[in-house]
Order: sequence, then C-alpha cells, then structure tokens
Amino acid sequence: MSLTLSSAHVHTTYCDGKTPAPEMARRAYELGFVSLGFSSHAPQDFDQRYCMLPENEAAYRAEISALKAEYAGRMPIYMGLERDYYACVSADAYDYYIASVHYLKWADGFAAIDGDAASLGRYVRERCGGDGLTLAQRYFDVLRDYVVNEKPDIIGHFDLIRINNLRLGLYDESAPAYRRMALDALRPMAETSALLEVNTGGVARGYLSSPYPDAFLLKEWKAWGGKVTVTSDCHDMRLLDACFDDAEELLRSLGYQSAVRLGQKALWEEYAL
Ligand SMILES: [Zn+2]
Ligand SMILES: [Zn+2]
Repeated sequence: MSLTLSSAHVHTTYCDGKTPAPEMARRAYELGFVSLGFSSHAPQDFDQRYCMLPENEAAYRAEISALKAEYAGRMPIYMGLERDYYACVSADAYDYYIASVHYLKWADGFAAIDGDAASLGRYVRERCGGDGLTLAQRYFDVLRDYVVNEKPDIIGHFDLIRINNLRLGLYDESAPAYRRMALDALRPMAETSALLEVNTGGVARGYLSSPYPDAFLLKEWKAWGGKVTVTSDCHDMRLLDACFDDAEELLRSLGYQSAVRLGQKALWEEYAL
C-alpha cells in the first residue's frame, strides 16, 4: 500500500478519461484514499478531442459538487482543472488547478508536445531548424512564464517533452546543455508556492521508465526548498494509484521526507514518506 492515498490529477469521461466520475470516486474510496481531486482538461477552442467541451463545464461542476456532498465526512473531494496555457477559461471558480503546457503555437496552428510524434517532428524540422533543443527551450520558456506569472497550485508534468524525445531522439537528456536549460526554467518556479507534480501517468501507461520530472530536477527542487505532490494523471480507474510506491521510493532516495496531497481539513496537507 502506498503512502500517498490521493491524487490531484484525475481525468474522467468529461474529457479524455475512460472512467465516469462516480466510478472513479468509488474506486478511490475502495483504495482507502484520504482525498481525491478531479482535474478535467479545461475547455480550449482548438484540438477539442482531449478537453472538456465548453458546454459540458456546468455538468462537470454539478457532478463533482454532488460527489463532494456524497463523500462528505468520509473522503474529501475537490473540484480542480488541468488548465493548459492555451485554455480559454479561467480556473478562478475551482478549488485548485494544475498548470500544464501541451502545445506550442505556430503560424498555422498548434504543435502538440505529447501528441502525434510525426507532427511534432515536422514542427522541429520546419520551425526549429531541426534542432530538438530549440523545441525544448520554447517549451520550457512557455511553462516557466506561465507558472511564474500565474502561480498555479501545481506544476503539471514539468518535462512532458521527454515522451516524444524518446520517440524522436530530439536531444540527449543527459547532455549538460539540456540539463542546464531545464534547471534554469525550474529555478524561478521555486520562488512561487506551486507544488511540483511527480506524475506517474507516463510510467503507468508504459511510455516512460520514471515519472515526470526527471530525478536530477527533483533533486535540485528539494535543495531549493520546493515541495512535491505525487499524482497518477489517471485516465482509467485501474491506474488510480499506479506506480505510487516507486515514486515514493524515488523521492526518499533523493532525500524527501514528506510530500503534499489534497487534505482532509485544509486544501493541502503534508504527509511523511
Ligand atoms: Zn497533461
Ligand atoms: Zn492530465
């Protein structure tokens, strides 16, 4: 049994998840979760296959509110959003939000960072001079500015570009130039109170061998006094706490003695690892 017993990054059939919200809540309760946060992809006005449609936002809010009431006193439920940088709604009416960058904008549309590898490869060839590190720099620039300017609750999958780097071989993840770039983007985020998400979604689905973000980033984040939250970026209730044990072990090996989760009394609570 993992220690985290919560996840603030959970998708349902309101966006690109497979599990309806009531079944997800039931699964969390069966697992002995102390809390659960829903984080539908916020509505956006392009590439709407993945996000909640604007006309469904009211139904999402109503259903999560009903689940909050149903589980009151047993397992606090929170209404969150995973808000992409290019989303078209604010997160003001939500309990918390995850700031994520899934796209880079270019003249004739958006390149999806974690989408189809062939079209991201085309973006790198046509817009980055074929240089994968230029892509990485643009991605980190957008995410850094988003987090520093808007101070979200959670920094979503900080190094999401790793997934298509594995498929496309865009740059060497151990190269000093890449590591310096990633650390330079992360450093100013430590001046906000945002939680750095340790996201097991890519491992649980078999795409990655370790969570986002890479261990060298987690190590420095700790040295800077930053706090982390373990999440599953869950799209299927069978993976609600997938790979949490490994993530906790990784954090302990890096010197973390605690992490933060959605709380039972306050929005956020710290627990020992
Ligand atoms: Zn995401
Ligand atoms: Zn997500």
